[in-house]
Amino acid sequence: MANCAIVGINWGDEGKGRMVDLFTRNFDVVVRFQGGGNAGHTVINEHGKFALHLLPSGIFRDGVVNILGNGVALDPENLFTEMQDVLSKGVRITPENLKISDRASLLLPWHRELDELEEQRLADKKFGSTKQGIAPFYSDKYQKKTVLAGELFYPEELEEHLESLLEWKNLTLTKVYGARPYTMEMLREWVNTACENIRPYICDTGAYLREAQAAGKNILFEAQLGSLRDLDYGIHPYTTSSNTTAAYAPIGSGLPSAKITDVVGVVKAYSTCVGEGPFVCEMFGEEAEALRKAGAEYDAKTGRPRRVGPLDIVATRYGVEVQAATELALTKLDVLSYLEKIPVCTHYLLNGEQTDRFPFPTALKDAKPVIEYFDGWNCDISGVRRWEELPGEARDYVTYLEQAVGCPITYVSVGPERDSIIIRK
Ligand code: GDP
Repeated sequence: MANCAIVGINWGDEGKGRMVDLFTRNFDVVVRFQGGGNAGHTVINEHGKFALHLLPSGIFRDGVVNILGNGVALDPENLFTEMQDVLSKGVRITPENLKISDRASLLLPWHRELDELEEQRLADKKFGSTKQGIAPFYSDKYQKKTVLAGELFYPEELEEHLESLLEWKNLTLTKVYGARPYTMEMLREWVNTACENIRPYICDTGAYLREAQAAGKNILFEAQLGSLRDLDYGIHPYTTSSNTTAAYAPIGSGLPSAKITDVVGVVKAYSTCVGEGPFVCEMFGEEAEALRKAGAEYDAKTGRPRRVGPLDIVATRYGVEVQAATELALTKLDVLSYLEKIPVCTHYLLNGEQTDRFPFPTALKDAKPVIEYFDGWNCDISGVRRWEELPGEARDYVTYLEQAVGCPITYVSVGPERDSIIIRK
């Protein structure tokens, strides 16, 4: 695998961090290409348990170079806090194994506040934002009203740039939201503390990646969230504000010439969704509570209970198409072991007709799930490491899924630990 992307197929939280952590043994470089601190990748390994929000999941492997690409929402405060946590558990982080793109835009102090203010204004129409400032950040990025990380090396020009941004942003803060204005003192303080902490890691990562590519290094592109949260292809407007799809990896990583040869889509053995928006296969009541408990489905960032449902074939097939996945990793199969019968959403009912096509976002609210049941296996499979040793019912479930969504399942994860994996190739 020369250029491989690991991406989410559904609504996020599929277990991408766990897969990247496993994959990094075969890669020289791991790059995060989009998103910010609004999601959490959980990784469990010999150093402990980590909820990574911005750091690439390759940070735990010696010899792997980790890059935060130009496509990420670079929040210096949160990044440094996360680095401190990882460092405190004995993991090495130096400018050798962590490199931040000088072209990454910085999430400014007002972005988180604006996120909060807008959710308050929306009240019961809110999007369920994690309030990490991601939507205001990307809006400003596309208006060219952010600061690039590399500008920290040009203090005079930076001061001028911040002054003009401040004047502009205070208009929105005070006149639209009635909030307090920011001052240059506040911004200088932010530059001198939060930004100063991450400055040693900022460099021309595009040049580094081009050299790595020319030297034939293996590069892993790590996505955040999943297909259905993609700004262009997801469940608009309940998406994130960046592209979560593999096609964006070359642009957001800083290596626009990269051809992604392998796209590993991560799918959970059932569905979960955090926040607002349509979730056709959603389960409620005791059935939902049992699945939520079995899978410990509480958000890594906010602790919010996740909405849960059976695996949704319609959404998953769409996710596979959007990602152009070449293979799939199915995670959390062990979680379903308590079920006698396993529900699967095979189709949607829309306008009185059964469909297997993922509808336009506005129509999703009228779609109803069509559920079929598969035999469960009803035994602990967390110790299984070979495909042949899985109970027949579990193999049937996996085989059905790969046929239904049209993509081979080459990895089956049966536990959160690094080695709790069945590799089928
Ligand atoms: P990500 O954002 O896609 O990396 O996913 P999250 O970290 O939000 O959620 C995945 C959760 O499931 C984490 O707590 C993982 O430790 C856990 N996990 C991943 N794979 C498995 C698995 O196969 N079985 C079990 N039981 N837990 C898993």
